[in-house]
Amino acid sequence: IAALALTACGRTDSGSSGGSSSGSEAFPKGSSIGVALPQKTSENWVLAEKLFNDGLTSAGFKPDVQFANGGVSEQQNQISAMITKGDKLIIVGAIDGAQLGTQLKQAKDAGATVIAYDRLLLNTANVDYYVAYDNFKVGVLQGQALLDGLKSKKPNGPYNIELFAGSPDDANAKVFFDGAMSILQPKITDGTLKVVSGQTSFEQAVTQGWKAENAQKRMDTLLAGTYTSASLDGVLSPNDTLARAILTSVKAAGKPLPIVTGQDSEVESVKSILAGEQYSTINKDTRKLVEHAITMVQDVQSGKTPEINDTKSYNNGVKTVPAYLLPPVIVTLANVKTAYVDDPILGPITK
Ligand code: BGC
Repeated sequence: IAALALTACGRTDSGSSGGSSSGSEAFPKGSSIGVALPQKTSENWVLAEKLFNDGLTSAGFKPDVQFANGGVSEQQNQISAMITKGDKLIIVGAIDGAQLGTQLKQAKDAGATVIAYDRLLLNTANVDYYVAYDNFKVGVLQGQALLDGLKSKKPNGPYNIELFAGSPDDANAKVFFDGAMSILQPKITDGTLKVVSGQTSFEQAVTQGWKAENAQKRMDTLLAGTYTSASLDGVLSPNDTLARAILTSVKAAGKPLPIVTGQDSEVESVKSILAGEQYSTINKDTRKLVEHAITMVQDVQSGKTPEINDTKSYNNGVKTVPAYLLPPVIVTLANVKTAYVDDPILGPITK
């Protein structure tokens, strides 16, 4: 039974390195837990650092939380070092989910459990669980918000829009885009929406590194080249950082502000929604995501199979990763005052 439990929680070895006396624990309580975070490309990651440190400590573990601001090779080295040090569970928010195969193999060989956090780990069998907000749903909500926002300005189209996507190395970016396009593509096809630049593919819409400056430059170019006489009614933006960059570009060009979507409920974007500038964001409460990740850690540690609510959506190219998905919530001016009532940062701002 113990062997079965270990297999079910992602351990295929016999638990020899765990040092556990109970036999069913995957590793001793109080162990060090590695948390490899990407670059600080949005506020959610910065919040996650503190939440993991506090939450793992109060759950009785030793947190080892690291950012890889220097990029992919720094993250590879950090994960390797976590394994070498003996961490038996590694939580990974990847910069590039496809570039960690060697380190994840090393983790598996050492008997460690791997949890993909927020971003999926790609092309590897060596990932046990995925915990995230439902990324496709995020995109669907963004696409719907863009349409709703456009209709609120003028009831009938056609509307001129542009499409922005996230960083192509982040597995989430394509899923967000596909979710949004599941709503927008039929409206592009029937002529309600016009992507005036003609740049409708994911590859054309991407923003390398999720960097504000890259989105701002692309928007500057689009405005100067495509919108000299046409008016821009809306922009699909995959997150708040890029939404604000797009709005900055439009303001600098002296044009009327289009409907712009977002994601993450960043402080400056929530303020922008209150000011009637950014149209929407998504509430993906980082506290809940980290809390769920820590529940998974506790389950794995004690030899239980973590609760999973999705076993079909996240195929990483090698396996379908058992996932726990949380529901994202759309926020616009219509619900911004009630959306964050329990949020210690955003609650007071939106009162
Ligand atoms: C996260 C988003 C975030 C983006 C940039 C994505 O993987 O899911 O919430 O906006 O990374 O940091």
